[in-house]
Amino acid sequence: MRDFTVDHSALALNTASLGHNLDGAGAGWSPERVIDACAARGYGGIVFWRREIGARAVEIGNRVRSAGMQVVGLCRTPYLVGREAPRDASDLHAAIEMAADLGAPVLTIVTGGTEPDSKGVIETQKRLAERVAAIAPVAAAAGVSLALEPLNPMFGGNRTCLFTVADALAVCDRVAAPNVGIAVDVYHVWWDRSLAASLAAARGRVLGYHLCDWLENTGHMLLDRGMMGDGVADLRAIRQAVEDVGDYRGLCEVEVFSAENWWKRDPADVLDVIVDRFRRYC
Ligand code: ZN
Repeated sequence: MRDFTVDHSALALNTASLGHNLDGAGAGWSPERVIDACAARGYGGIVFWRREIGARAVEIGNRVRSAGMQVVGLCRTPYLVGREAPRDASDLHAAIEMAADLGAPVLTIVTGGTEPDSKGVIETQKRLAERVAAIAPVAAAAGVSLALEPLNPMFGGNRTCLFTVADALAVCDRVAAPNVGIAVDVYHVWWDRSLAASLAAARGRVLGYHLCDWLENTGHMLLDRGMMGDGVADLRAIRQAVEDVGDYRGLCEVEVFSAENWWKRDPADVLDVIVDRFRRYC
């Protein structure tokens, strides 16, 4: 397990921590301002959301790299299953193209919920695997890997059909494509006592690790994530499992959706706090 107490070069910002994943949230800094502020603080990389990038993927990607950082990933594909999944794959192709233009090696998949003509998640997971298998070669040709992110079970129904790392790995097994793996997010896995055992089957397939904390009294299930150190998740134990069992050595992205707290603060202060908390608690 890496020692972050003296070195935060593995720290990446997911711009959702500044409110950048939702229109009208956060202070509205431009990508350039975010890039400069992260570079000045020694961040190793940035993860963007599609809505920030628009038609400027190549330009923004180059700007990150010329600032000495990596584009770690892009959030995210449209839903692949569930009632809200688009009927055709055009937006999915656009997401892959944007990741490639940005130079983002990983595109995150939040799957979408249960298919409208089915119950439970078994049939939906089967269809998900078929759809991921169909798109994986397109992503591979673009040099992009796809990371299936299991979500906390409270997001079942409309947002996900993958509740655990084991669920996500089972879909990866069905797809059996070298560029399809998983993302592990503290918010979604902190409760799972079988996490380390599941990660044993994930070696080489963990494509991302997302940091935040689980607040003891969560006020909103989507937009009240805690900053690392403010909650009850065992952050060191989770990272130890992700690194030592799951064999993950990539950057660790801080992804704090926090409409009523962190998004209301000055982004410069938030970026400072993230560095401090990353070194102290992660
Ligand atoms: Zn995440």
